[in-house]
Amino acid sequence: MSYPALVEPADELTIDEVRRYSRHLIIPDVGMTGQKRLKNAKVLVIGAGGLGSPALLYLAAAGVHTLGIAEFDEVDESNLQRQVIHGQSDIGKSKALSAKESIAETNPYVNVILHEGRLDNDNVMDVFRGYDLIVDGTDNFATRYMVNDAAYFLGIPYVWGSIYRFDGQASVFAPTLADDAPCYRCLYPEPPPPGMVPSCAEGGVLGVLCASIGSIQVNEAIKLLTGIGEPLVGKLMIYDALEMEYRKLKVRKDPSCALCGENPTVTGLIDYDAFCGAISDDAAEAAAGSTISVTQLEHMLKEREEGTRDFVLVDVREPNEYEINRIPGSVLIPKGEFLNGSALEQLPSLTEGDKQIVMHCKSGVRSAETLAIVKGAGYADAVHVGGGVVAWVNQIDPSQPSY
Ligand SMILES: [Zn+2]
Repeated sequence: MSYPALVEPADELTIDEVRRYSRHLIIPDVGMTGQKRLKNAKVLVIGAGGLGSPALLYLAAAGVHTLGIAEFDEVDESNLQRQVIHGQSDIGKSKALSAKESIAETNPYVNVILHEGRLDNDNVMDVFRGYDLIVDGTDNFATRYMVNDAAYFLGIPYVWGSIYRFDGQASVFAPTLADDAPCYRCLYPEPPPPGMVPSCAEGGVLGVLCASIGSIQVNEAIKLLTGIGEPLVGKLMIYDALEMEYRKLKVRKDPSCALCGENPTVTGLIDYDAFCGAISDDAAEAAAGSTISVTQLEHMLKEREEGTRDFVLVDVREPNEYEINRIPGSVLIPKGEFLNGSALEQLPSLTEGDKQIVMHCKSGVRSAETLAIVKGAGYADAVHVGGGVVAWVNQIDPSQPSY
């Protein structure tokens, strides 16, 4: 099914614009009218990261007149494996500014608006208002639900994408475009339990996957803005890069959807961090009063070296991560072995003589989950390290690489 164009055509294209966009103009479906629509379009891209990088570059190249960039982060060396809008000399710079400079090089006719504050309930409606379309490249569930709800309240369609390792998904959520068009909550009514779905920072992502999914998002954006083709409204695109397989599933509007259903319970912005939960209740309970800092850990390691203290330091990350960096003197037992119980069989020999268990992961989320498991198994004095190996590298040992 096709939908009316989201944007009215601009009055005219200049001679320079006709030259620049000629390969669009000679496609009958786009033509002069389609290009004039892009010239009038205002698109907000959330995140100038993995998905935002290709999305912003191709939207700019296509001639979308106004591009908003909502991004608060700075460019890190570990971004450059996939975030191709940034370069080596941008490390440490604001991602929004770096993206703006790349866009100016790609297409000087684009008007770029930067929104450099972290999106939250207080500013999201003001940031979104006035845009014709939103392209969502966020990587966390709390922001995704907030984007979905705010876009719905303002009646702005949005193109969603997500990536992890070799798998990607994309869809268009636009309940205001058609009565039967679903929203993100129709597809995913509840966020996954905290700690169940690792982020790309924890689990990794194939760099080029960002281009595969980001380009689908731009493709859908151009179709919606110009009113051509059949956009992914009510359809979920699933991409498997290893099998090289695209599948399209139907997504139905859920009449009992909390947001766009017949009796909505979400009628305003909610507390998205609480809704998605950074860590599970069990983990939060276990970590309360049982979290040490990396400075405390450094002190404890010194005492262990001097022989005045003994404990076992367990790294619950994956072997690949342990190869990149580690806290000296740690033993590796991945989180999965705690979940299936095999780690608990190894612990008694490791903790012989009532050695205390100290656990850490990359940032403190996974180790809080495993802390709940070992405390549940009776190791009452177990603790975990807040901030994990990231904090260790930042504060104690900057000679090791971060990731
Ligand atoms: Zn819905």
